[in-house]
Amino acid sequence: MPSSRTRLIAGNWKMNNDVPAAKELAEALVEKVPAGNGVEVVICPPTIDLACTSHKIADSAIKLGAQNVYWEEKGAYTGETSCSMLKSVNAEYCIIGHSERRDYFKETDADENKKAKALIAAGITPIFCCGESLETREAGEHVAFVTAQIRAGLEGVAIESADQLVIAYEPIWAIGTGKTATAADAQEVCGAIRATLVEIFGEELASGIRVLYGGSAKPENIAGFLAEEDVDGALVGGASLKADDFAAMVEKAGE
Ligand code: PEP
Repeated sequence: MPSSRTRLIAGNWKMNNDVPAAKELAEALVEKVPAGNGVEVVICPPTIDLACTSHKIADSAIKLGAQNVYWEEKGAYTGETSCSMLKSVNAEYCIIGHSERRDYFKETDADENKKAKALIAAGITPIFCCGESLETREAGEHVAFVTAQIRAGLEGVAIESADQLVIAYEPIWAIGTGKTATAADAQEVCGAIRATLVEIFGEELASGIRVLYGGSAKPENIAGFLAEEDVDGALVGGASLKADDFAAMVEKAGE
């Protein structure tokens, strides 16, 4: 085990599962996901499913995360969800900066920065996503690109403890494509992310911040990523929708 950081496996359901399906998946996860194996487990359902999922996992070790948040506290922001609304359903985590939000909804580093600050102030841990396109990787600019996303997204962000922030490195070309980065690719960027976190937050805090890999992670390949020094878990899309696969990943993370 390369570090003393608690491994984290987070499931990003994306825009899948209506309320009945969310309840069914949450029930299956409570039954199948191993508890007490030293791995922290988070599921991030769509906003409409947060309340019912929260209820279903209430007596389990599985924690709740959201997929998005708006930084204002309340008011005329049709369609948005505030930090206090997330708190009211016991969400402890929230994904921000996912490449799908950056690409399809034109979110910027400045938006992610405001979201990160609002979440941390509210006591919700951002799972801050970053990652490069295939074009950027082929140009050999992936490390510079990702570390620039980290610097911009976390500018002026202050934390007092390492568990107030999680980073997820998700190369865009590996998301939902079945194409995974190699474990060495993941380590190269996750290591550079940690070095950047040291510059921003100092050695002590940065050494405790979890850095996850995401991008077609599944039971068959997760162990390779987790064996790397700076990979502390996974953000899982497709495989988080199948209770058996997600449970198997949590099990492998505990080995
Ligand atoms: C994601 O989008 O966060 C993700 C990792 O998706 P997938 O596992 O399906 O590639």
